[in-house]
Amino acid sequence: MSDSARPPRPRALFVAALLLLTLALAGAIALQAYRNFLGHRATAERVLRDYARLAAARFAQRTEMAVYWSVFSPAMDALSRVKADLPDTPLPPPASLPAPTELHSTDFRKLARYTFRYDVLSGRLETGGATPSLGVRKWLRDTLPVHSRTMYDPKERLGAIVRTIEGVPRAIVYTAVLDKTGHPRTLVGLEEDPRGFEPLYTAEEDKFPLLPRPLTGGVVYDSLGSAIVTEADGAELYRSPVQYPPTFAARDSFEHPMMGGIRVQVALRPDMAPKLVIGGMPRSNVPMLLSLLALTAVLVVAALLQLRREYELSQLRADFVSGVSHELRTPLAQIRMFSETLLLGRVRSDEERERSLEIIDQEARRLTHLVENLLHFSRSERRLTRLSPTPAPLAPLLTEAAEAFTPLAAARGVKLRTELTDGVVAPVDADALRQMLLNLLDNAVKYGPAGQTVTLGLTLADGRALLSVDDQGPGIPAAERERIWDRFWRLERDRGSAVAGTGIGLSVVRELVALHGGRAWAEDCPVPGPEGRMGSRFVIELPLMPLAHAATGASPLQADAGASA
Ligand code: ADP
Repeated sequence: MSDSARPPRPRALFVAALLLLTLALAGAIALQAYRNFLGHRATAERVLRDYARLAAARFAQRTEMAVYWSVFSPAMDALSRVKADLPDTPLPPPASLPAPTELHSTDFRKLARYTFRYDVLSGRLETGGATPSLGVRKWLRDTLPVHSRTMYDPKERLGAIVRTIEGVPRAIVYTAVLDKTGHPRTLVGLEEDPRGFEPLYTAEEDKFPLLPRPLTGGVVYDSLGSAIVTEADGAELYRSPVQYPPTFAARDSFEHPMMGGIRVQVALRPDMAPKLVIGGMPRSNVPMLLSLLALTAVLVVAALLQLRREYELSQLRADFVSGVSHELRTPLAQIRMFSETLLLGRVRSDEERERSLEIIDQEARRLTHLVENLLHFSRSERRLTRLSPTPAPLAPLLTEAAEAFTPLAAARGVKLRTELTDGVVAPVDADALRQMLLNLLDNAVKYGPAGQTVTLGLTLADGRALLSVDDQGPGIPAAERERIWDRFWRLERDRGSAVAGTGIGLSVVRELVALHGGRAWAEDCPVPGPEGRMGSRFVIELPLMPLAHAATGASPLQADAGASA
């Protein structure tokens, strides 16, 4: 019977495996969702980097045109107008060059430091206006012939070098007179301060924004990104007042070699990113995924714990069923054996007959007691237990219980003593009290050694009645003193032992005690047994005053005591 009551373990394992599989599945789904998110983010970032490249290219293109049209071209125009390229004419200083004719040109004369004329064949360098240092002159002589050969644009009639020399940024712009073979012979130009180009970097912003209008919708153009402009060697020429982190940044440079190799770097404003990517930047779903996963894990763990509890409980129930069968079998066997002896007339003397009847009576009482316990238990499971405590002197009730139990104790050679304080009156349900005491006495006899002394005590302490049952048995380990009051709980040493038990006796005691408004606990017996061993003491503490709600008659404590009989 017990085996069939026990659920097959493989089924529990199967359910546990299913739960773990569910958890794994949730993990896999979360991982997949996270991967999707990473994929979306990578795509969005790629798009933004492409936008940054586009912005850098457009910025370079716009500024290149602005510098060409506003500074370089008007300067060359002015130089050719005064015919500065003729070798034997005096070289005019920048201040005496004619003003630019174009309306929107920057006045290059204000940015110019000096004019120069360089003869490629002879290496002669003339300057007009401020005089460059020896170092700069040497650099010009070294650089100009090579640059004019490789970077000069004969079609545009322009060459430009932008460099920082002796710590000063310089833009050297020149035009050339070619010889018959088409090689530059005389170079005429001027040095400008490239810091003066600054207004040109933002000049055409609204006509030619960093990103084409259809991409940016309603965004204000100048707030789209930040820029840094450097000369070819990396020395900085310009930095926009607001700088954004280079999360989405790209570099580009002036396209035409004749324009001096100026470089630009543009960084898109990061909070603009969601507006630029269709549908916005994908938001990280990691916190949500992790919390969902954690929730799933918690639920699965809770389900697993529940499963384990169910399994343990079903095992305890199975033990209970086999315990009950076992407990019923012994008295029934005794009753049958002695009644058969009587029926078949096998008794040899009146004494024997009396003895047989006594045993039958004892065992029948034991059965009654057991069945009552079961009834109590099933009633308490269905929350039907009802008591009617009435104030009664306790000592006579205890004496009565002890007397009723004496034959059962005697059958195991156990001496039952009482130490009772007279005059203790408390509201109790007599049947329930008997049931509690019999349970404790039965345990004391069952788990203690044959021939021990069991003491039933009653004292008064702090306005409460203390009922105790002391035995000289093995005692209860301190760690188990609470658990033994749980349903079906039996000490490890007693599970499956010869001592039959159901594990519900103490739970019935505690329940009945609680219905009286009292407490019950186990402790070491203060008086050691004959071998110096500590037995156990089970204590029931009951209040002396009638319970307020019991007196009103409205409580479940009030009702029918007869049902418990
Ligand atoms: P049962 O006696 O039917 O097993 P109980 O609820 O009465 O169930 O007791 C629970 C467990 O507590 C017992 O199985 C036993 O292990 C332990 N126990 C109870 N009373 C004593 C005692 N007097 N001495 C030692 N162990 C006890």
